Amino acid sequence: MSTEQMWINENSLDNKDHIYFIEMNNQCVLCGGELTLSIQASEDKLVLTEKAHCEKCKIQTRERAHKLQ
Ligand SMILES: [Zn+2]
Repeated sequence: MSTEQMWINENSLDNKDHIYFIEMNNQCVLCGGELTLSIQASEDKLVLTEKAHCEKCKIQTRERAHKLQ
């Protein structure tokens, strides 16, 4: 696991808690490998939907919505 590469959430303006939250959960529960993350913002930009999946295990480990305001 490398912590050198910072996850940049382009949809979240200076929301460091959100960035930290993602960093902490960036690991597959099955193989311990790095998860591929994707973030989608709703049209009003108030809710971010976070999806994570493992390329190796072919599983989606979570899908979570984050309300920004
Ligand atoms: Zn895995």
